[in-house]
Amino acid sequence: MFVEAHEGGHITALGSTAAPAVTTVQNYIAGGWRAPESADTLPTRNPANGALLAQVPLSGAADVDAAVAAAGEALPGWRATPPQARARALFALRDTLDRHREELGRIVTTDMGKTLSDAIGEVGRGIESVEVACGAPSLLKGENLEQVAGGVDVEMVRQPVGVVAAITPFNFPAMIPLWFLPFAVACGNTFVLKPSEQDPLASVRIFELIDEAGVFPPGVVNLVHGAHDAVNALLDHPGVNAVSFVGSAGTADHVYRRAAATGKRVQALGGAKNSMIVMPDADPRLMAQGVVSSAFGAAGQRCLAGSIAVLVGSPEEQDTSLERIVSAASELRTGDGADPSVDVCPVVSPAARERIEADVQGAADDGGRVVLDGRRAGGSAGAELGPTILDDLRPGMRVIEEEVFGPVLSIVRVPDLDTAIQQVNASRFGNAAVIFTSSGGAAREFRFSVEAGMLGVNVGVAAPVAWFPFSGWKASFNGDLHANGQDAIEFYTHKKVVTARWS
Ligand code: NAD
Repeated sequence: MFVEAHEGGHITALGSTAAPAVTTVQNYIAGGWRAPESADTLPTRNPANGALLAQVPLSGAADVDAAVAAAGEALPGWRATPPQARARALFALRDTLDRHREELGRIVTTDMGKTLSDAIGEVGRGIESVEVACGAPSLLKGENLEQVAGGVDVEMVRQPVGVVAAITPFNFPAMIPLWFLPFAVACGNTFVLKPSEQDPLASVRIFELIDEAGVFPPGVVNLVHGAHDAVNALLDHPGVNAVSFVGSAGTADHVYRRAAATGKRVQALGGAKNSMIVMPDADPRLMAQGVVSSAFGAAGQRCLAGSIAVLVGSPEEQDTSLERIVSAASELRTGDGADPSVDVCPVVSPAARERIEADVQGAADDGGRVVLDGRRAGGSAGAELGPTILDDLRPGMRVIEEEVFGPVLSIVRVPDLDTAIQQVNASRFGNAAVIFTSSGGAAREFRFSVEAGMLGVNVGVAAPVAWFPFSGWKASFNGDLHANGQDAIEFYTHKKVVTARWS
């Protein structure tokens, strides 16, 4: 599959026999495609083979200014559009995304690397967010209370916060923009997206589809490519009223502070270090499959990836659990995500592979044991890295404390559930946690005591469906209101309370 230049620099997915033609993608502002003022670009490449797919412009403050101005101009008309009409636009968006589901999945695989089934699943999750936002007329309804004093009634109405900026990461290049765009516009806001500069082609195609189907009036949704300068221009811009961010913990912290400094509403979803507790009574097959698909699916590049397996029980029970996990991981095939027989895709870039391998080597140098070594996968070049499992680790080691964001599973051994929960809660992160057990009591204690936003019970990747809030706790999240579900409606609206007396 290639990405080919079209008139205006648009992209589309082609069959595997077409010749590639590299283009510089464009920004989408005020209902049209525009070349950014900045001439600087970055390449985006297929992680499976290094093929150059497109050049990504590094927009600057002037480009951000144009997008925010377009969103600001579209705001009065869009917020006055009846919620049912806004919902109908989202039905049209849902329809076009659904018709291009597989094509979008192929673009995700080519640009980001994950397997095609995973990529199509990601697009499906994004479409579900649109489906939830289609309920805007019901979700936006306010409250009222009659006769709070003689002849006095109170009503609460919801109004849009204004211009919303979303800044998104590389690992879900189709789904995460769709966590924010549908809800923001459903609530009557206008929108500017700054996708990851590492793999923006799914966003480009989504905006092409929006444009071709005439889903929104000009300026309601805008797309600006770029990296840090574009992000900082959005964070500082007085015309931006709210920021939705997803990315690593350090960037989330930066985005939260800088946007709040100019009075913006912010939700900043950050990084993770998720533990999976393995009880000795867990169903062996379900546990092993669940642990390896969580740790190694998408090459560990999910914010919900389990990156620590906390093995509970006697030393013999811990060894048995580890053998089952190693055996299941050894069966996984590493390679190009476009190959249907592949389980573990490349990581996003050769630079990411080098960083992850350095983390593995660091653990080995500090006395860790490499039980399964994926560093040989794909030779020394490229971005492939096979499943890797580390044992004999100590608290304080980097692979235990920090996000590796690669196909690396660290083993921690504890005697009982209480110690396992203490181990989970010792992390500064609190995105997700998982338990594998056949005991309702253990699962209940886990649910009650674990400090994390998204829990799985016998489910390795505990991704809430879009009707529920999605986010973590602690260093995994800066803000109050999570993404998706009713929280999204709360985040993207101001509440206005009217107290009225009529004689
Ligand atoms: P990243 O933080 O490097 O980049 C995210 C976005 O921020 C990109 O658009 C990038 O251009 C911008 N950015 C990066 N550094 C910046 C800086 N110094 N100043 C201004 N802007 C900056 O994240 P990534 O590597 O693209 O994504 C992976 C990370 O995202 C992982 O840590 C993962 O756990 C996290 N993530 C979290 C969730 C969640 O729900 N909590 C979901 C998906 C991914």
